[in-house]
Amino acid sequence: APDVLTFGETMVALRGNGPLKLGGSMDVSVAGAESNVAIGLSRLGHAVRWSGAVGDDEAGELVLRTLRAEGVDVGAATRDPSAPTGLLLFEPRLPDVTRVHYYRAGSAGSRLTPDAVDAAFAAGAPRVLHLTGITPALGPSAAEACRRALRLARDHGTQVCLDVNFRSRLWSSDEASAELCGWLPHVDVLIASDDELPLCLPSARTASPEPEKTLLAGGIRELVVKLGSRGATVHTADNTLHSPARQVHAVDAVGAGDAFVAGYLSALLDGADVATRLDRAITTGAFAVASRGDWEGAPTRAELRLLSADPGTVVR
Ligand code: ATP
Repeated sequence: APDVLTFGETMVALRGNGPLKLGGSMDVSVAGAESNVAIGLSRLGHAVRWSGAVGDDEAGELVLRTLRAEGVDVGAATRDPSAPTGLLLFEPRLPDVTRVHYYRAGSAGSRLTPDAVDAAFAAGAPRVLHLTGITPALGPSAAEACRRALRLARDHGTQVCLDVNFRSRLWSSDEASAELCGWLPHVDVLIASDDELPLCLPSARTASPEPEKTLLAGGIRELVVKLGSRGATVHTADNTLHSPARQVHAVDAVGAGDAFVAGYLSALLDGADVATRLDRAITTGAFAVASRGDWEGAPTRAELRLLSADPGTVVR
């Protein structure tokens, strides 16, 4: 059985070098929040199963081949013969501003079914189920697949991690709040950006003075709040721990959140304490920021300590 099961939409990602409308060449890769986490965990030596859906097309083959090459188990992934694999274009527009254009409506990934989740669990219940708030926004079938996964996780004693990852292009904050609040009683580790916390409260519209306390009282074991370049904070019933970000030369902020989740779950799977989980998350998040691409720069276990090397170090 895998350490971690995750699923969601992974698309072909084309990355240009300047304004898209000028044309030119683009690099071809794949991207998806959950598969970014899967690759991050696999690089750190954990057994991960990704069970999303791709089209029965060459773009889908690229997704599956890439995940396989990264050591992610795609045996429970599905190929949908009636819908294409999704696509996204990264347009670096200014040194610190990248636009992302999506071509995913009606894609195979958005048509993921609860049956696929049954199959993924049937092959062995994972220790951790990782979901994001992107998948339920893709369509009713994908949302149902997530609910099925939450139920199976409860039946198998699998811990659940949820990264809120609110995407305003896919649904409204009221819709997101209504769906995700229903999930929270099943969630052990909740990961969110600070601006996403209100979405996780039953009445998203009434600002709560202490959203962290409300969420912990509602049964969340670890509430992990990502603060971008300010680092992150973890709240548990007995403690609040903060860590500043690691100082790195920022090259590409996309994927930092997913890399952060991979580091956090890696240390959790190792049985490390909350401080160590936070520290590894901060480290893997910094690797993502310092590397081009969503997941390409994810560290192996041996590479984790490279961030502590002095500037200008040549590792021979
Ligand atoms: P994305 O959706 O782009 O992946 P996010 O909003 O989910 O990102 P962030 O809070 O931006 O996630 O970043 C996650 C973590 O990555 C932060 O908590 C921090 O540890 C690290 N990080 C982010 N930006 C920087 C930075 N400029 N320098 C170093 N570390 C960073």
